[in-house]
Amino acid sequence: MKTLCILGSTGSIGTNVLRVVAGLPDRFRVGALSAGRNLDLLSQQIIRFQPAVAVVASPDCIEPLRARLRAAGYGRTLKILAGSEGQVEAATDAAVQFVVSAGHGVTGLVATYEAVRAGKTIGLANKETLVAAGELVTRAAREHGVAILPIDSEHGALHQCIRAGAPREVRRAVLTASGGPFLRWRKRDLENVTPEQALKHPTWNMGGRITVDSATLMNKGLEVIEAHHLFGLSSTQIEVVIHPESIVHSMLEFKDGSVLAQLAVPDMRIPIQYALTYPDRLPMTDGESLVLDFKRLKRLRLEPADERRYPCLRLAREALAAGAAAACALNAADEVAVEAFLARRVSFTKIPEVVGNVLRNAAGSTIGSIGDVLACDAAARERAQAELAD
Ligand code: MG
Repeated sequence: MKTLCILGSTGSIGTNVLRVVAGLPDRFRVGALSAGRNLDLLSQQIIRFQPAVAVVASPDCIEPLRARLRAAGYGRTLKILAGSEGQVEAATDAAVQFVVSAGHGVTGLVATYEAVRAGKTIGLANKETLVAAGELVTRAAREHGVAILPIDSEHGALHQCIRAGAPREVRRAVLTASGGPFLRWRKRDLENVTPEQALKHPTWNMGGRITVDSATLMNKGLEVIEAHHLFGLSSTQIEVVIHPESIVHSMLEFKDGSVLAQLAVPDMRIPIQYALTYPDRLPMTDGESLVLDFKRLKRLRLEPADERRYPCLRLAREALAAGAAAACALNAADEVAVEAFLARRVSFTKIPEVVGNVLRNAAGSTIGSIGDVLACDAAARERAQAELAD
């Protein structure tokens, strides 16, 4: 029986983690749930999974959460914590063995880093953890003998493929990208894309920023950086191909030219359950809907990703080459630019422009601690805001 702490329990990954956990009651117990301000859903989750600890965005959320639980007649003892410190306390709690890192932004990063240092196994969905602090986090994981198990579908696929050989036998990883909703659009029409159009992802149902990042391919760029840290591959060893069906979740090429791929229906419960139960592999609870139907699967297309069409992919590779501070700035600037696009303050094509300008003007800061990461992140956000104001 593993006790879990779930950072980001009300988000799209968090809710799917809880669906998996609900199907495996003999394997998992929920020790802590951490969310932001979605107190309605958090209170339902608390009633259903009965954790000992809950974490909310800030102290002003504590009483409203208690009021919801009282109104529902929930009588179990519950410690309610708040903010970044609350997340760290929950993620490092002695009762917890496995931390699902699906929290938002750099706040989730701090708690994940501390969980690694406390020796907890990590199921990683929070991209900031490796993009903004990859070297620090992987070094801490090595020092503390901690496994970082990817929940992202692409890295989960690579993790499955790598079990067929030794890391030194790997030549290349091939990350697949759906190409997003604008795959067949003319480049000049992208100028007038609306947030509603960008939020309609063809194959996955996810949060706002990651959906827009999938349309610009920044999400894939961030995943290249993640793959570099998780599997020790250089940028040139990580290729990206467009695969609109989202059935092949990524591939690994070995030195002899053999390529292994992991295929599955695009449903996050599969990579989540794989990470949670690793090294075991269990049937999915509602397995019927998650079976790949080859009769309906007419074709699988794989096309090269054009970095001129998707400048965010090129920017991510440039940031990876430039070092830790640039990768941190890339992530922060993109988050600010995407928020501005969703708020209709800037056009879709302005997103790579803002990120590119922030990267070009990034001071050569060094990253030696989590404090440096947070400072670098804040500085890049400020520069991105200044770019938007221009
Ligand atoms: Mg992914």
